[in-house]
Parts: sequence; C-alpha cells; structure tokens
Amino acid sequence: MDEEKKKYWVEVFGCQMNIRDSQIIESQLKRMGYTPARTPEESDLYYIQTCSVREKAEHKLYSLLGSLKKWKKESHGRKVVVGGCVAQQERERILEKAPHVDLVLGTHETRNFQEHFSQILTSGTPLVRVKWHTYDELNRLSLADEPKEGSPVAYVTIQEGCDEFCTFCVVPFTRGREISRPPETILEEIKRHLSKGAKEIVLLGQNVNAYGKKNQSFPTFVELLYQIGELKEVKRIRFTSPHPKYYGPDLIQAYREIPTLTPQAHLPLQSGSNEVLKRMNRGYTKEEYLHIVEELKKARPEIQFSTDIIVGFPGETEEDFQETMEVIEKVRFSQVYSFLFSPRPFTKARLFPDPVPETVKRQWLYHLQKRQEEIQEEDHRKSIGTTVEVLWEVHEKGVLKGRSPQGRVVHAQGDPALVGEITSVLIDRTTPYALYGKILHPSVPSLL
Ligand code: SF4
Repeated sequence: MDEEKKKYWVEVFGCQMNIRDSQIIESQLKRMGYTPARTPEESDLYYIQTCSVREKAEHKLYSLLGSLKKWKKESHGRKVVVGGCVAQQERERILEKAPHVDLVLGTHETRNFQEHFSQILTSGTPLVRVKWHTYDELNRLSLADEPKEGSPVAYVTIQEGCDEFCTFCVVPFTRGREISRPPETILEEIKRHLSKGAKEIVLLGQNVNAYGKKNQSFPTFVELLYQIGELKEVKRIRFTSPHPKYYGPDLIQAYREIPTLTPQAHLPLQSGSNEVLKRMNRGYTKEEYLHIVEELKKARPEIQFSTDIIVGFPGETEEDFQETMEVIEKVRFSQVYSFLFSPRPFTKARLFPDPVPETVKRQWLYHLQKRQEEIQEEDHRKSIGTTVEVLWEVHEKGVLKGRSPQGRVVHAQGDPALVGEITSVLIDRTTPYALYGKILHPSVPSLL
C-alpha cells in the first residue's frame, strides 16, 4: 500500500473503556505507519469499536456496516475492522451478515490488533479473532499501552471484566471475568501520561472499585487511589464505572483525605425499587444506596452524583417507577444516563416475563428525562455568580471547553494555550447541560 494512502478512521460506540480501547488500536496503527484521516472518504481502514450494552447500539453497527459496503467498493484495498463487545458476542455471525468485514476483533484481542491486521493485509483473507486470554497474558499485553499524546485527561484501564452478573447485563459475557492490572504497570502508565502533560487521571474498569479483590498481593482499589494521590503532577483523579456495593467506609474516607479525588461520584442506581433491584441482582437496597450518598456528602459536602437508570425492567410496576423518581428527587443527580430496558443475549432478564406495554415504558422514560432536565436546569442556575475551577480540555471555534471538579461541562472564550491549565471561571449563564462564564486571571493558572 502506498505510504500516503495509509489513513484510518475510527468510530466508537459506547463507554469510556471503548474510547480507551480505540486509543490502544490507534497507537498500534501509528506504529504501522498509519495516520488519522480527516474524513471516512479519505481513509483506507474503517475501524469500529462496538458496544453491546443495548440492542440499539448493535443495530447501529449493522446499519453502519451496510453503508460501508459501498465505501469499500469505491477504492481498492480498503479494510473494515469490527472490534469490541459486539465482535466478542457475535463472532463469525458478523462475517455471515457482513462478508465485506475483514477482521472481527474480540475484547481481549485489542492489544493484538497489529498482529492480526498485518495478517489480513498479507493474506487478504477475513479473520475472526476472539480468544479469551489468561490473566498473565492480558497483563503482559497491557504493559505496552501507550498514552494518547497531549491530552490533559488520561484514561487508564486498571481492571477489565465483571463477576457481578446483574441479570440485565451482557458485560460478563463480552468482557469476561474480572482481571486487575498489576499496580506497577498502572503507575508506570500514569507517569507516562503525566510526562506528556496529563493533569487528570480517569481510572477505568467495568467494575472499577472491585480492583484487586482477587489478588492478595495487589493493593486494594482505595490503596491504589492513595498511591496515585501522592503523585504531585496529578491534579484530578476520577474513576468509572464503580459498583455501589464496593463503596465501603475506606473509599468514603478517601474522599476526605485525597484532595485530588474529585468531588464527583458516578453511582449507578439502575432502579429505586428494592423489588426490581433484587431481580436485577444488584446486591444493594435503595436504603443502602442512599446511605452511601449521605456518607459521601458528609465526607465532601460539595460532591455531585451521576447515575445510570434502566426504565421498564421486566415486571416493573408504576409503584416501582415512582420509587426511582423519589430517589431522583432526593439525590438531585447532576447527570442521569437513562435507557429503556433492552433484552441482551445470554442474560437472565431476557427470559423474565414482561407484561408492561412498550408505550407505558416510553412514557416513564420521557417523564424521568424531562424531570431530570428540570433538575439540572435548576441546579445549574444556582451556579450563576459563583466561581468554579475548570481544567480546559479542548479549544474549538474560539471557545474553551472543560470540566469543573464536579464534572460539569464549562465553556468560556479564551486562549487555546490554556488547554491543559486549570483556571477560575466566573459563571454568568447556564443551560441544563453546561455552564458558561468568563475566565478570571487567565495568566495565573489556579491550583485545584
Ligand atoms: S456490575 Fe456493571 S458491568 Fe457488572 S454485570 Fe452489573 S451492570 Fe454489568
């Protein structure tokens, strides 16, 4: 292939883990001499990082693959690669439905992409690579993870897979069982990010705060947080996605003692009804969930919570739904990722009887999202006239975009050189989704 034509386009569906995995793919492509394309039309490789948490994302994949048939025919030698959770779940079925796909790459094979892709370039024969790796193999492979250049926010995978088996969730089947990375490789990767200018470290895992629980010789999740908190170049630490049942007193104490641990907790609720939570196999009650919220508020009064909610779980009643709404009123989340239940392959809940009509479920979802938008609008408005500390992440069309310690999106006019800096911003306007303001003392970056 001609050097100038080696261009790639990456499309990512789903969670932050998928964003990080696509960065790992990109670093391997760069090693192979590929550069990012400005548009899909000028690319030679179309890589899709897929999500299988909801049926909709899977449908989106097949509709995208349909349109790529024409794209592939337009230029000789173009390749299509499907990676991530749908690849792991569907395997050969992807090639049966979309024979123009060249490589199906399972979740444990992300770090072996270069090897498999080179093979299809040489042989021209489509491949399906979805092998589960052992703990040692995966850790050895993750040693080579490279940071994304120049980003103020660095995503670091510390744990993969999940052993919880919530009855609605496909993750244990697409990402496998829990595997934690050795702490030294995590710290080494963080230091590499810091040397390239990262200020905020986001620890990633499907069940991130279960980190280390299977490895006696590893630090616990909380001990790892303290170790990262000691690195002076780290200005902010976040983590996602945790499980409420691993929010023990030690983690709550960490919010008191680690100043760089941001006052933000993503605490997936899923439902406010104990009946539904039980059928979901979530392992906590509404009361236990609210207790964690209260304890975290005592530890860090300025803390904000975000959450995930499934509406219309099989058998959910109007009363169950109202209990979820009560929690929404009590906690006043800063953001809610809410979705209609969608039956996923291999999961128990796909077989549960479900008498609730789809129209009722849609009304519930509409009601929840509308109320949540009002809450965000009301709470954002309260920040008008206050000052927030913002880490600037990007500069687009003359506007800086960043986040407050609580994770709220903030916009302001400013110098692109401020990307990667933390400055104070006086908020003068809000929407339900963002805060807008003026930068104070732009030449003197403030400390967190
Ligand atoms: S804890 Fe999260 S990732 Fe694990 S099964 Fe439950 S919802 Fe899925």
